[in-house]
Amino acid sequence: MKAIKSEEEWKEILSSEEFHVLREKGTEPAFTGKYLKNKKKGTYVCAGCGSKLFSSDTKFDSGTGWPSFWAPVSKDNIEEKPDNRFGMRRTEVLCKKCGGHLGHVFNDGPKPTGQRFCLNSISLSFKENEDSVEKSKK
Ligand code: FE
Repeated sequence: MKAIKSEEEWKEILSSEEFHVLREKGTEPAFTGKYLKNKKKGTYVCAGCGSKLFSSDTKFDSGTGWPSFWAPVSKDNIEEKPDNRFGMRRTEVLCKKCGGHLGHVFNDGPKPTGQRFCLNSISLSFKENEDSVEKSKK
């Protein structure tokens, strides 16, 4: 089921940067995102609707300047769409629940999938695993 909000409602909930990327399919500048170097264990959820999207277990350093993953938590939670804007043939990745733009997926990723989900940090919200939070407190 989609979390349908009007663009006006999204504008109220999201920051202008989040709105630009999630709702207007913008891209954050490379090497600026808050999760690029995040190596903590946890789950990346949609910054728009909170749906679980990617796990730290599949995150890798692609060298591109954007947080990269070789698989989503579940294919059911994302949507892939052809994106031929800017004279490029790419595959856009969206949050299935709210339709928010996350980034693109390419076929030059590492094993085992060979996929590279190249995402905007700003489209994501990181939830650290409870047990690793506990460990860091001890
Ligand atoms: Fe979402």
